[in-house]
Amino acid sequence: MPRLNNKVSLITGASRGIGLAIAKAFLREGAIVILSDIDTDLGLLAIKELRGKSQFCRLDVRQEIDWEKVTQEIISRYGKLDILVNNAGITGFENGVVNHDPENVNLEDWRAVHATNLEGTLLGCKYAIRAMRKNREGSIINISSRSGLVGIPRAAAYASSKAAIRNHTKTVALYCAEEGLNIRCNSIHPAAILTPMWEPMLGDEPKVREQNMREFIKDCPMQRFGEPSEVASLAVLLASDEAAYMNGTELTIDGALLAGSAVSPASRT
Ligand code: NAP
Repeated sequence: MPRLNNKVSLITGASRGIGLAIAKAFLREGAIVILSDIDTDLGLLAIKELRGKSQFCRLDVRQEIDWEKVTQEIISRYGKLDILVNNAGITGFENGVVNHDPENVNLEDWRAVHATNLEGTLLGCKYAIRAMRKNREGSIINISSRSGLVGIPRAAAYASSKAAIRNHTKTVALYCAEEGLNIRCNSIHPAAILTPMWEPMLGDEPKVREQNMREFIKDCPMQRFGEPSEVASLAVLLASDEAAYMNGTELTIDGALLAGSAVSPASRT
C-alpha cells in the first residue's frame, strides 16, 4: 500500500530543486500532487516530466489572493487538502552577491527575503488550516534550514526568516492542537543540498565551480552535498500516517554538520 495513497498535496516552489523532488516522491507514494510555483513555464515543464496524478497552479507565496484562489480550487476539485509543503524560499543572492551581513544589509533586501520565506509560510499555514479544518486533519511541512538553527554572518535575512519559520511551525502545531484539530505541523532543516539555488554562488567556470563546491562542504562531516531526494524522503515520512505523533518538531538533514561544534569564525584577514 503506498504511504500517501490518494492524499491531496500542495507543494510550493516545486518547479525545481527540493520541491520537485518532493513532488516526485509524493507521486511515487500515491499522492495527488498540486505542484505550484511562481515560474509558470518551468512548472508546466515539470508537470510534463511528472505525468501521474499531478497538476500545476501558479502560486506566488507572497500574495494572499493566490493562496485564497489555489486552496479554493483544490477544495472544489478534490474536496480536501491533506498535505501542504511550504517549500518556496529565496536566499537573497538570486541576482548576485549583495550585502546581507547585519551591519550593511539594506532594509529592502531584508524585507524581500522575509516576504517570500516567512510571510509565504505564514500565509501557507493560514490557508492550509482553513482548508484542512473540514476533515479536521492534515500535515503541514515547513522547509526551514540549518540556517534557522544557527547564526549566518553574511546571510542575516535568510537565517532570521528560517529561524522564524521554525518558531511559527511550533505555534501552528500548538494552535491546531488547542483547536482540537489533528493538523500536524513540522519543520525540516536541510544544510547544503545541491539544487539550482546554489548556481549563483557556484559560478560557471569548472575549476572555480569545483573549488567553490569544496569550500561549501568543507565543514560538513560527511564531506558532500545532500541530494534533493534525501530531503524528499523526510517529507514523505512527515506527510504520512507513520508520523501521526510527530508534531511541532524539527528534523535536521545536514550530514552531521550540527552534530558537533567545529564552526569557527572565518579568517579576519
Ligand atoms: P530552488 O532550486 O531555488 O527552488 C525554489 C523554487 O521556489 C524556484 O522554482 C523558485 O522560482 C520558487 N520561488 C521563489 N520565490 C517564490 C515565490 N514567491 N512563490 C512561489 N515560488 C517561488 O531552491 P531549493 O534549493 O530547492 O530550496 C527549496 C527550499 O529549501 C527553500 O525554502 C530553501 O530555503 C530550502 N533550503 C535549501 C537548501 C539547499 O541547500 N538547497 C538548504 C536549506 C534549506 P524562481 O526560480 O522563478 O524564483
